[in-house]
Amino acid sequence: MPYATQPRASHFLNGEYVEDKSGEPIEVIYPATGDVIATLYSATPEIMERALEAAKSAQKHWAAMSGTERGRILRRAADLMRERNHDLSVLETWDTGKPYQETSVADATSGADALEYFGGLAATLTGEHIPLGGENWVYTRREPLGICVGIGAWNYPTQIACWKGAPALACGNAMIFKPSETTPLCALKVAEILHEAGLPAGLYNVVQGMGAVGSALVSDPRVDKVSLTGSVPTGRRVYAAAAEGMKHVTMELGGKSPLVIFDDADLENAVGGAILGNFYSSGQVCSNGTRVFVQRGIKEAFLERLTQRLSNAVIGDPMDPKTSFGPMVSERQMKIVLDYIAKGQAEGARLVTGGKRLDREGFYLAPTVFADVTDDMAIAREEIFGPVMAVLDFEDEAEVLTRANATEFGLAAGVFTRDLARAHRVAAGFEAGTCYINTYNDAPVEAPFGGMKMSGVGRENSKAAIEHYSQLKSVFVRMDDVEAPF
Ligand code: NDP
Repeated sequence: MPYATQPRASHFLNGEYVEDKSGEPIEVIYPATGDVIATLYSATPEIMERALEAAKSAQKHWAAMSGTERGRILRRAADLMRERNHDLSVLETWDTGKPYQETSVADATSGADALEYFGGLAATLTGEHIPLGGENWVYTRREPLGICVGIGAWNYPTQIACWKGAPALACGNAMIFKPSETTPLCALKVAEILHEAGLPAGLYNVVQGMGAVGSALVSDPRVDKVSLTGSVPTGRRVYAAAAEGMKHVTMELGGKSPLVIFDDADLENAVGGAILGNFYSSGQVCSNGTRVFVQRGIKEAFLERLTQRLSNAVIGDPMDPKTSFGPMVSERQMKIVLDYIAKGQAEGARLVTGGKRLDREGFYLAPTVFADVTDDMAIAREEIFGPVMAVLDFEDEAEVLTRANATEFGLAAGVFTRDLARAHRVAAGFEAGTCYINTYNDAPVEAPFGGMKMSGVGRENSKAAIEHYSQLKSVFVRMDDVEAPF
């Protein structure tokens, strides 16, 4: 890779880079050209063992430190990430193909926010005192879980590595992180920075590999918690494996989220929300509002303005700061999306724009919009994870809410309207964990993020994440005599 800051080896174990070429090779491909830019190696059982043992021996000491000390290290890591944002963003662009215009504002910066936020919370994690009458009471201790395994998807590799690592470490746990094999580079830099900031060795380890490595980690009896970002089918498998060992889980899974645009919406904002919710990161965002329900009165104006604005997308070299739309992460993902585009056409949806691979090197697809989509079509039911928007018509509020909720997914949902009473009514009616009114796809660290129904279990970010990386112990205290029956 023509870049000085590339990670120095495949794994990061016990505070240092470790190479072991006896594992299966993992080729890292730059999606804008199809070139192999690095070769890493999948973790062997010996590498996993080293990660588990390092995590196990380091965690107890980490948990015994004060929250203030732990938090200081996380906040120092946040500062280092911000200072190195440019280099980290370039690396994320190599890893994912996402435009630098995006990676420089939404990846390492979002990771730094998580490190800063949970670094700040670390010292506030306390139990409570519960009086029981007389001189008796209970107090609770908020304790870490132990060893947490994080398994990442390929769309936000730096952010996911931090969203899982920061709350885990703040609560006193150790983390073993397995990135997606498609984007293995960025999590290594997160590990490097955490250790440079003073994190003791063994607390944040990165091991590479395919699903089998994740699966071996999830099944290990030394592991106490698993946090996965991935698809629903993978989530089902990982959740089931974790259940065998009664492990804690956080599941951040896929979606097919509705975005409802009423006649009275501000057209420019609604179009902007639909663009953000379908074409950012070339559509590879789990919370995307890919079922865009547009009320009949505004439909043609919406489609016309959307098409105009899509023609302003700057598609090209992801490293060029002017580029606003990049390639798909891999050839495989591009083919999956092309198959869905073919299904949409076969099922009779109207192709408004796009619908094809671009005639250039790399895995580029044109931003694609289908209109006249009906609820039963595959492109309206299944997660595509690419730049394909399905526009569906609707008449009234009750009807659209029923249709919006008629899905197994429940990650996100959005509504655009100037009628605020209706906006809150619709948001309350959505069966989704993350809802938006007159905006779409914001994900600040202060707010809980996660899904209902098949889209997930637990929440990332915010104080809610603390519940998922710690456990309560109740300690009963009796100051007077014990009254036993005999
Ligand atoms: P996958 O579900 O294919 O994989 C997710 C991760 O799990 C990868 O690291 C994968 O490894 C690993 N994995 C696969 N099988 C197993 C197993 N049996 N045990 C343990 N780990 C396993 O998802 P993608 O990487 O393709 O990401 C896209 C999906 O992620 C989309 O469906 C999207 O909606 C979802 N997603 C959800 C988000 C959310 O917050 N809700 C955010 C971003 C994405 P490998 O790939 O190396 O085989």
